[in-house]
Amino acid sequence: MTTFTSHSNRFKLTTRPYKVTPSIDPCHYQLDTVNCETCHRFMVPRMINYYGQPYRSICPFCATTYRRFPSGFQRFIERFQTPSLSFNVFIRLSLMALCFGFLWLINSWVYLPEELTLITALATSLLTALALAELIAQSIEHIAAKFYHQSVYYWGLLITLALYLANAHTQLTRYIVIFFIIMGVRWLFAGLAQGFNNSIN
Ligand SMILES: [Zn+2]
Repeated sequence: MTTFTSHSNRFKLTTRPYKVTPSIDPCHYQLDTVNCETCHRFMVPRMINYYGQPYRSICPFCATTYRRFPSGFQRFIERFQTPSLSFNVFIRLSLMALCFGFLWLINSWVYLPEELTLITALATSLLTALALAELIAQSIEHIAAKFYHQSVYYWGLLITLALYLANAHTQLTRYIVIFFIIMGVRWLFAGLAQGFNNSIN
């Protein structure tokens, strides 16, 4: 007995089921594109490079900037900024400063070796300065976050103010320089701690 397969059946068996590729499917197509806020057309943003680094993306129809990308320098700065704001480091530094201050006080009472007094005095001043720097830095970051501003502007304002003060009152210059050195040390420590945390996670 011979079995006959109809032409239509054979055709059905050999054809692959119709599959919608993501680029053809209108839903997917809309997911891959974005709406331009200026000309209200769906588009794939075009990338503008600056010395090989992504600089910004634009709408291919009206050339409006769709998104700006942080520069290499900005990304480098971001590495040194703590992602979550907290006063934990300030509290820890203050506690350490208090401990060393207490040791310093004991040293001056019981007349221990001169070097020990010097070390505790140095540690107390350094830790107090760092704690204050941390408090100032966290306060600025908190204020900026509260108003949804970028803290860079606040730091810029602080530096401008310091430069103006240093110009107007030359006797303040040395204190301003010391303040910025301490802020720099705090920034370096915070950056190193951040880098260490990032390498663990
Ligand atoms: Zn557009």
